[in-house]
Amino acid sequence: MQREEPDGVVISCDFCGMDWDGEAAMVEGHHGSVICLECLKKALADAAPGEGKYKCTLCLRFNIPPAMPRWSHAARPQTLVCQECLHQAAKAMSKAPHVEWQWDKPG
Ligand SMILES: [Zn+2]
Ligand SMILES: [Zn+2]
Repeated sequence: MQREEPDGVVISCDFCGMDWDGEAAMVEGHHGSVICLECLKKALADAAPGEGKYKCTLCLRFNIPPAMPRWSHAARPQTLVCQECLHQAAKAMSKAPHVEWQWDKPG
């Protein structure tokens, strides 16, 4: 997400809340939503189906069925991301030239 500070716009990860230092690897979703590489790694490992329909912070879809795995950071349990976005972000992150990380796609 973005917020206005006296010395400019600050971008931070929507999930862990970390401010972007201008260098860390991050992937953008809709409406300025952002996930950082650390969150993405954890999310790919820990995403799981939950209870009830939910809204994804990155693609802004709502009424996502409970069977679609989701993830949230312990710091912000209300901020959810769906597995489709995680996979898209993982692909984008793997292709980014300055990111030393490759996604091991399951299957
Ligand atoms: Zn994060
Ligand atoms: Zn999504």
